[in-house]
Amino acid sequence: MAFKLIKRQMSQSWKPRYYDIGVNFSDAMFQGYYNGSSTKKHPCDIEEIIKRAHLFNVEKMLITASTIKESKEHFKLCKNYSNQFYSTAGVHPCSVAEEFYENEFTLRKDVDSKLEELTEILKEGYKLNHIKAFGEIGLDYDRLHYSTKDQQTTMFQKQLDILTKIDFKIPLFLHMRAACDDFVKIIKPYVDSGVIPRGFGVVHSFTGTEDELQKLLDLGFYIGINGCSLKTEDNLTVASKIPVDKLMIETDSPWCEIRKSHASYQYITPYPNIFYPKIESSTIDQTSSLEKSTFKLDDHLLFPSIKKEHYQKHSDYVERNKSEDSELRFGILSSPMIKSRNEPVEVGKVAEVLCKLHGITEQKDIEIFIDTIYNNSVKLFNN
Ligand SMILES: [Zn+2]
Repeated sequence: MAFKLIKRQMSQSWKPRYYDIGVNFSDAMFQGYYNGSSTKKHPCDIEEIIKRAHLFNVEKMLITASTIKESKEHFKLCKNYSNQFYSTAGVHPCSVAEEFYENEFTLRKDVDSKLEELTEILKEGYKLNHIKAFGEIGLDYDRLHYSTKDQQTTMFQKQLDILTKIDFKIPLFLHMRAACDDFVKIIKPYVDSGVIPRGFGVVHSFTGTEDELQKLLDLGFYIGINGCSLKTEDNLTVASKIPVDKLMIETDSPWCEIRKSHASYQYITPYPNIFYPKIESSTIDQTSSLEKSTFKLDDHLLFPSIKKEHYQKHSDYVERNKSEDSELRFGILSSPMIKSRNEPVEVGKVAEVLCKLHGITEQKDIEIFIDTIYNNSVKLFNN
């Protein structure tokens, strides 16, 4: 009897917690620049994005670096948000040509000193508690126009060799797209020899087949899932087969949002729900009619969602209508999400889709599912 009571109380106070393991805060979209244009569509709104994420319990984020410069720059953000933000350090397969090559076939003369620089960033970041993973490193054969296969395999291997030169163990943040056989061929010897401890890494943004999933699980890796991993019915079938104790979630924002045209979309329900609990505030209730008439909201959350072109118009409106008794409505909740730009608060949608794909419907089981995914990430990156 007493046990039952405790159990119920625990359940009532439970709230979802999320760890978004893939956030590209270095992307120009977070500074207001889109599609390579030099016209700023809106001011940098990273602070508002973080507030939105906090409102829905995105407690930790791993910011992904793709170049040596980004790996270094992320220290600042990690310092400002210690115990919430961590970064990876590494060179993405799509960036290896620019970072390490003089031309298609020739490595830069200073390639060794660049790798040395990356090693130092890893060491220092690890010591400071900022860098929690080595990556993004790996192979991407879907985008060979950035780096050739040869450049990618060469630099994947050279970066993995850094692991033999450092005297601490750091988990891997791996990128693998349409390159599973080469990927396994290159990384397996490091796992077999113990240079990479078993299970000490995640293959993020997974979009492969069931057969490929099995090959990665055989190496012990975790699998990171985002909106891009859930586009087609085939994707959903594969995602439903990932063991929960190997599952992690991410937005890969500003990319990889779940879109209306995706197979996953049918599984998302409107706010509030168990994945996005109701925010208790009289302010919000009082102004809900105002909210409906003035702001076009995100289809599933309570934030306005606008086209980037309308940012100024929206800001002007908020400025005109600010008042003390609508602090929240015209505070955190008034700052808009940008249509087609993904952000960390949306990671709960990935959790909801995965939960349903795994056939989990009971409240208690959903709680365990969400907690397990959160703890997988904490176990890998924060232990
Ligand atoms: Zn990636």
